[in-house]
Amino acid sequence: MEQREDKLKEVISHAKEYGFVFPSSEIYDGLAATYDYGQLGVELKNNIKAYWWKAMVQMHENIVGLDAAIFMHPTTWKASGHVDAFNDPLIDNKDSKKRYRADVLIEEHIEKIRQKIDKEVEKGSKKFGDDFDEVQFRANNPNVVRNKEKIAAIEGRMKDALEHNDLEGVYQLIVDLEISCPISGSKNWTEVRQFNLMFSTELGSVAGDASTIYLRPETAQGIFVNFLNVQKSGRMKVPFGIAQIGKAFRNEIVARQFIFRMREFEQMEMQFFVRPGEEMKWYEYWKSTREKWHKALNLGEKLYRFHDHIKLAHYANAACDIEFNFPMGFKELEGIHSRTDFDLKQHEHYSGKKLQYFDPELNQNYVPFVIETSVGLDRMFLAVLSAAYSNELLEDGTERTVLSIPPALAPYKVAVLPLTKKDGLPEKARAIIDALKFDFNCQYDEKDSIGKRYRRQDAIGTPFSVTVDHQTLEDNSVTIRDRDTMEQVRIPVSELHQVIDSKVNMKHLLN
Ligand code: ATP
Repeated sequence: MEQREDKLKEVISHAKEYGFVFPSSEIYDGLAATYDYGQLGVELKNNIKAYWWKAMVQMHENIVGLDAAIFMHPTTWKASGHVDAFNDPLIDNKDSKKRYRADVLIEEHIEKIRQKIDKEVEKGSKKFGDDFDEVQFRANNPNVVRNKEKIAAIEGRMKDALEHNDLEGVYQLIVDLEISCPISGSKNWTEVRQFNLMFSTELGSVAGDASTIYLRPETAQGIFVNFLNVQKSGRMKVPFGIAQIGKAFRNEIVARQFIFRMREFEQMEMQFFVRPGEEMKWYEYWKSTREKWHKALNLGEKLYRFHDHIKLAHYANAACDIEFNFPMGFKELEGIHSRTDFDLKQHEHYSGKKLQYFDPELNQNYVPFVIETSVGLDRMFLAVLSAAYSNELLEDGTERTVLSIPPALAPYKVAVLPLTKKDGLPEKARAIIDALKFDFNCQYDEKDSIGKRYRRQDAIGTPFSVTVDHQTLEDNSVTIRDRDTMEQVRIPVSELHQVIDSKVNMKHLLN
């Protein structure tokens, strides 16, 4: 656990030192759970967006994009259920005065039991070696079975309590499980209360004329209210999707884990409209499509797992999360939800406008069902950064910090480094950048020794460094160094474009 916390701390300080992420308004001591993306952060973020947009919108004939306003008519949020039900159950520890999400405390307790199971499995695997049958073991080992039953019982009680808005039941579960505050260690809890997560503000400058509006807590509703606009103007045929990347705002109760949980964050969401009755087929399709998208990044197969929701949201008939093994442990990265026709029907009801599709093949009007995929851009950023960050001990006994960011997402693709600041080497380096910069984000660096410059590029994840030396002036060749292998080879300048492209082109992720 400590090791994990140390890793998060290291990632946070590395992100700050190299210009990826800064605490917001830091000169005023920052603002809780709010961060700014620096000069490298914005590049990485844009590349993640481009990867998502390309895969989801531009490579699907039947998915189009949208950029809806953050402010929406307040009735939108009444219709969507957010005004009445977008709550989290909160609980305070009376000794540490720290506030927690009650459901998260219970989830964390469950996670500890899960870790016990994993340890048991690991022990079994060591004991039986090649003969080990994990599936059998998980089904029959008495300790594993007992712990699985424990988890099922806790999940059952939590689901029941949350579904019936039984806050006393949630409190009792925390008491019965003897959950203590991680800060004070005490079990001295307040009652559990509901807290609405939407930020509200006033619209209009004339006193008395103002009305309450909300900062959107999700981008999805902008898609639903535009469903017919897009369908008609784009002549879209069901099944089709509408995708959007944009800011969302939630007044989170606890926001302590860097950019994992912020009060202002960005979502990449896609709503896929399907025929009623076909939603489960598409739900499975999007689960596997999204899994592939994540795994193509090569951050490590074992870093992902699916988690089915115990308590379904009021609008869903099936839902799961893709969880990622962040430095804080496995946590939600993306949600995939079968939202039924709930949202469109609610907007029909509240607006009095029909939101239906005429299906020419069935010769029938209906309100489509919806499958949603929703991934947090900032959580993707943290997933990439934390998985990419490592301190390597090299053969010569020295250490290097390297960010093995997937090349297509790296802020800079290539650094061009003149060996010295004279003899025309800087000019030659700049001429090389001038030829490459249309296709690749390049960095020029002439300060310090070549070794130090390589380390700097490793630390920001640049896949290639190209060194221009005196031989370059004679035969137009350069050395190109690979970030991951640290190998250096000499190649003609004319081959640079192709060598770099073969590694950094986003095409390789999208196939
Ligand atoms: P959690 O259970 O962690 O609060 P959620 O289930 O409420 O998340 P969704 O409503 O499904 O989240 O939102 C979709 C995605 O938006 C999440 O998978 C996550 O990646 C991202 N997201 C949600 N809340 C935040 C936040 N406060 N900060 C950063 N990203 C967020």
